[in-house]
Amino acid sequence: MTLLQDVLNRCGRRCACEGACGRTHLAGTCNSPRGLTAAPYPARATDAQNANVQPEDLRPWCGPCWNHARGRARQDAAAARQQQMEKGQQSLFDLTSGSAA
Ligand SMILES: [Zn+2]
Ligand SMILES: [Zn+2]
Repeated sequence: MTLLQDVLNRCGRRCACEGACGRTHLAGTCNSPRGLTAAPYPARATDAQNANVQPEDLRPWCGPCWNHARGRARQDAAAARQQQMEKGQQSLFDLTSGSAA
């Protein structure tokens, strides 16, 4: 039995995306039966992380949902990094300018 078959047996032969792709699924989940792949839910930010999740974290995804969700996970991770960097620069700036007077 392949990993995908295992996931489909457990979760059903439908895309299990509940909007993580950024699209609105009117039925609550996408339910698309086409082009399914087994991938982590929620999507992780990097391929290495996605390859290293526990089998029970895998869900069936259709191609478009998975691509969008993975893209969003990457964007979120990049935004969080950016924010942390800006915070770091901010506090550095405060340190150097705080005692000027
Ligand atoms: Zn889908
Ligand atoms: Zn979706």
